[in-house]
Amino acid sequence: MAAFGTEFTQEMVISQYEDGQWSDLALVPVEPFSLHPATHVLHYASECFEGLKAYRADSGDIHLFRPDRHVNRMLNSAEQLLLPIPDETTLARALHMAVAAVTDEIPVNPGALYLRPTLFGTEEDIGAAARPSQKATFYVLTSPVGDYFAGGLKPLRVKVDDKAQRSTPDFGEVKTGGNYAAAMRQIVRAREELGADQVLFSPGGIVQETGAANFILIEGGELITKPLDGSVLPGVTRDCILALAADAGLKVSERDFTVAELLERAPHGEAALTGTAAVLTPVGELLHDGNCVKVGDGAMGPWSTRLREQLCAIQTGAAEDKYGWRVPLNT
Ligand SMILES: *Cc1c(COP(=O)(O)O)cnc(C)c1O
Repeated sequence: MAAFGTEFTQEMVISQYEDGQWSDLALVPVEPFSLHPATHVLHYASECFEGLKAYRADSGDIHLFRPDRHVNRMLNSAEQLLLPIPDETTLARALHMAVAAVTDEIPVNPGALYLRPTLFGTEEDIGAAARPSQKATFYVLTSPVGDYFAGGLKPLRVKVDDKAQRSTPDFGEVKTGGNYAAAMRQIVRAREELGADQVLFSPGGIVQETGAANFILIEGGELITKPLDGSVLPGVTRDCILALAADAGLKVSERDFTVAELLERAPHGEAALTGTAAVLTPVGELLHDGNCVKVGDGAMGPWSTRLREQLCAIQTGAAEDKYGWRVPLNT
C-alpha cells in the first residue's frame, strides 16, 4: 500500500456555502478544485480539518471511531476561525455518507479508512484580511490506510524545545493548517541538526505536545499530560488513553509539568505520542541542550504496549466497546 496520505478513494462528499446557505451534501468524484487566485484560504489561511478512521471489523461490520468528538472539535475550530460550517447533524451525516460510498475500499484489519473532513474559505477577495470569508467549501476526503506499523514500532527520537512555540496560548486547540505551518521549520531543523523525528514544544519550560500528536509521560504509577487549556489540541486518542489508563489503575494527572520533571522521571518511566494516525507511539530518546536522555531502556515499555493494544482492539472491533466509542455505519 502507498505511503499514508497519498492514496485516495474515487469519491468524496462535498457541500458549498454561499449567500448564507449550505448546499445539500453531494457525492462527487475526487478531482482537482478550480480556485480563483484571490480565494480567501490562499491568502489568509481560513482553513481547518479533522482526521478520524472507519474500520471494518472481522465480522464485516463497519464502524466509525468517535465521530461525535471529531465533529465537535471541527465545530470549535470553525468557530475560532469565523468560518461558516454545516450543523452538527449534517457533519455527522457527511462522515457516514463518505464511508458508505466507498465501503468496498476499506482495508481489512489492521488497515482502516482514514477520513479527512476539511473546511476552507472561498470568498474571492484579497481585501478580506480582517474579515471572515462569506463563502466556504466543506468536503470529506477518504484514504485507505494499511498497517501503519508493518515495519514494527520504532521508538522515536524527540527534541525537547523549551523555547519554540507550536502555536499561541489560545489557538493551539484549533486544528488548522496555520499551526502546522508555524511548527514546521522547527521540526525540519531538529531533523537536520539532530536526526530527531519530532519536536516536543515546551515554551517557557512547560511541556505541551509535538507538531501533530499529544504527549504523555508514565512513571511511578502516574500518567501525566498537559491539561486542555487552549494551547494544545484536545486529542481524541489522548482522551481514550486517559480513560484506559485510569481504568487500568494508573493515576491520571492532567497538569502542567516542566521539562526538568520530564527529564528527571523519563529514565525510570515511559513516554509516548498519541494521535489518530499513529495511535500510541513510544518515545525512546529525549534530546535537550546537547544531552540525550533515554526513556526507560529506550524500548517500548509495558504500559505503552498494554494501552496501545487495548485501544487498537477497541478501535478495530476485536474487543468489547464498554465506552461506546464505536459508531456503526449508518447508511
Ligand atoms: C490532530 C492532532 C492531535 C491528535 O488528535 P487525535 O484526535 O488524537 O487524532 C494532536 N495534536 C495536534 C497538534 C493535532 O493536530
